[in-house]
Formats: sequence, C-alpha cells, structure tokens
Amino acid sequence: MSETLDHVASSARTDAPPAILLDKVNKWYGALHVLRDVSLNVALGERVVVCGPSGSGKSTMIRCINRLETHQEGVIKVNGIELSDDVKALDDIRREVGMVFQSFNLFPHLTILENCTLAPIWVRRMPKKEAEALAMEYLTKVRIPEQAKKYPGQLSGGQQQRVAIARALCMKPKIMLFDEPTSALDPEMIKEVLDTMVSLAETGMTMICVTHEMGFARQVADRVVFMDRGEIVEMGTPTQVFETPQTERLKLFLSQIL
Ligand code: ADP
Ligand code: MG
Repeated sequence: MSETLDHVASSARTDAPPAILLDKVNKWYGALHVLRDVSLNVALGERVVVCGPSGSGKSTMIRCINRLETHQEGVIKVNGIELSDDVKALDDIRREVGMVFQSFNLFPHLTILENCTLAPIWVRRMPKKEAEALAMEYLTKVRIPEQAKKYPGQLSGGQQQRVAIARALCMKPKIMLFDEPTSALDPEMIKEVLDTMVSLAETGMTMICVTHEMGFARQVADRVVFMDRGEIVEMGTPTQVFETPQTERLKLFLSQIL
C-alpha cells in the first residue's frame, strides 16, 4: 500500500520551516501545571513517537497542537503559522492537521462513506461525487472499501479505527496526530491498525504518535520523546531512548512497559 499512498504527503524538505514548533509551552488546568516548558521541533516528513506514564501530559500536548486545548505560555507554530485566537489562522491550521483518537469518534448514524465525505463536503466544499470518489480511494488504501455502506456499529474496532484514519486522510492533511490509536483495541486488531500507520509513515507523512507500541516506534520513529509529569524528560532515536535511558524516570517507565 505504501506506493499507493505516496501522494498524500510530501517528503522532507530542508528549506521548509518546521512542520510543528513548540517553544517553552506551559499549560495549567486550574492549579494543575500539566505542560512545563515543553519545547519540540518536528521537521516536515519527520515521525515522532511520544511515550510516558498516564497523566504525563501527552494528550494535552497533542491537543494543543491543533488547538483542541489552549496553552497559556509559550509559542506553538504549525507550518510556520502561530496558534492564536485568530480564527482564520486556526482554520488554516486545522485543514493541515488530521487527528486520530483512542476512541474512534465516528458518527454512529452515518455510514462509513458518509463519515469520510462529511468534512470534505462541508469544510472543503468538495462536490459530493468527488468526495465519495476520494473516500473510496482512502478506504481502499486502509483495505476496507467493502464496508463503505455499513454503519460504524457493524464494524470491528480495528476496522473503525482504519475508517477514522481514512476519514482524516480525506482532508488531505500535511500532518497527522495520533493519540493512542490502538490502546482501545483487542490485541488481534492492533496489528492491522499499526500496519496502516506504518504504510502512512512510509509515504513521508509528518506524524506525531502517542503510543506505547515499541515495535512501531522502532520501525518508524525518527525520534522518541519521553514525557513525565508535564515535561519532556528525554528525547532521541528509538535506540537511544530504549537502549540507553539516561534518567531513573525513563528506566522505571521502560521496566514497566517492556
Ligand atoms: P496523558 O495523555 O499523558 O495520559 P493528559 O494530557 O491526558 O495525560 O493529562 C495530563 C494531566 O492533566 C492529568 O493530570 C490529567 O488528569 C489532567 N487533565 C487532562 N485533561 C483535563 C481537563 N480537561 N481538566 C482538568 N484536568 C485535566
Ligand atoms: Mg492521553
């Protein structure tokens, strides 16, 4: 499938601004300091895996990148555009950034095809026929075109998650954010979703994936980021982070998941 997904993402370009830039980002929920001076640059075409204990701020960081949450201090830029309350800038960013969640968040009363065509038709103003052709193209790429007329409740969890990925790709994003996309799945369905993500990574898509799937991280990640208690504690290649952890916090985390 990798060659068929080739056109969805451009390959890395050195002259481009970082796809994602976080500079000393801080966020609080009330008195709870959940992101502490988080700084991270993700180049175009780079794949970053984020791991860390539950409650360490992984989801919050990723949700701040497409402004599902707002940060209070620091700078976040997506494709060079700074996140702010400017609605136009936010629209521009949301078009570029696709997101896949732990829960698939499909609309239960819409068919698989309708789930995929909704945003292209209403947000991108794409003609219905064109949106349907595009949706079928991506459903084929995630290997479930035969499910197009069904409703989400008729599909397995792994199939629903692949629909969620196809749906995000129908908006032709330049960046994909994944927040523990396989952690709600039964073990036998994890592989089919990871395989889809590997194929997407092979196309050169810029990706940030929160996941504890170390096999996936080793296979596709250019960098692994370890977060704990709102901080980026360590960052490096998969080999550096998994084989030669520098901090007790990371050693403890690895001993618990491996
Ligand atoms: P992770 O994804 O690493 O498990 P989260 O980003 O979900 O961590 O959460 C980081 C911290 O922020 C946790 O202590 C969590 O309880 C808290 N938190 C997350 N969302 C909210 C919210 N909407 N309101 C208040 N606290 C929250
Ligand atoms: Mg989370």
